[in-house]
Amino acid sequence: MRIGAHVDSADPLAEAASRAADAVQFFLSDPQGWEAPEPREDADRLRAAEVDVYVHAPYVVNVATTNNRIRIPSRKLLLGHATGAAAIGAKGLIVHGGHVNAGTDLAIGFDNWRKTFAYAADNGGFGVPVLIENTAGGDNACARRLDALARLWDAVGAYDVGFCLDTCHAHAGGEELLDLVDRVKAVTGRIDLIHANNSKDAFGSGRDRHDNLAGGTIDPELLVAVIRAADAPVIVETPGGVDGQGNDIAFLREHLGGTTA
Ligand SMILES: [Zn+2]
Repeated sequence: MRIGAHVDSADPLAEAASRAADAVQFFLSDPQGWEAPEPREDADRLRAAEVDVYVHAPYVVNVATTNNRIRIPSRKLLLGHATGAAAIGAKGLIVHGGHVNAGTDLAIGFDNWRKTFAYAADNGGFGVPVLIENTAGGDNACARRLDALARLWDAVGAYDVGFCLDTCHAHAGGEELLDLVDRVKAVTGRIDLIHANNSKDAFGSGRDRHDNLAGGTIDPELLVAVIRAADAPVIVETPGGVDGQGNDIAFLREHLGGTTA
């Protein structure tokens, strides 16, 4: 099982080495901004690396919204980051499920997701697997609860779309972790990546604050059980930098019996 961490984007391979990680995830630009990614000087090294590379799309991306001034640039930004991710040989581009505004029919959000994949297909395709991630909060989210996720997959499932399961988001979002992998796979048919995070907040709180794996409000044994059941690559998005994430990776290796590359 490949295990890695979300790291600073300046030198991801050095960050991976310092954590003994098999995989890294990073942003290609300011996660709160609308900039398309710049070509990276380390693109050749990243493509050739033993370490698996994942890219996380900016948080501002919300392709579901009915707000044209967010949705249209979000589509373009997502495609731009997919192109940037493909250029460095990324295994996937992770993007949050997004939401519609209060009072808007969620069905429109799901159809906006479908249009996003259609838009990409009309523009040469994403060029990299796009993995939609479950989110923790909001009452109008496309991928917080499994009932919404099922409707989202009805809309986009005909495209080559993957799924990233975040354990903190599921717990804080109000989905029990016990047997969650089976329930997710019944909807999506796949889990492409696990974001392995404990949660500082209570079940169903709707808050998104990650904690180290042995801390937080989720039983660490339950976390390990979910990750083992998913049988997918793992990225920790936990605090504490090299030490905190390095400990979390070691914790998973110890409990999952994983090996380094
Ligand atoms: Zn995540």
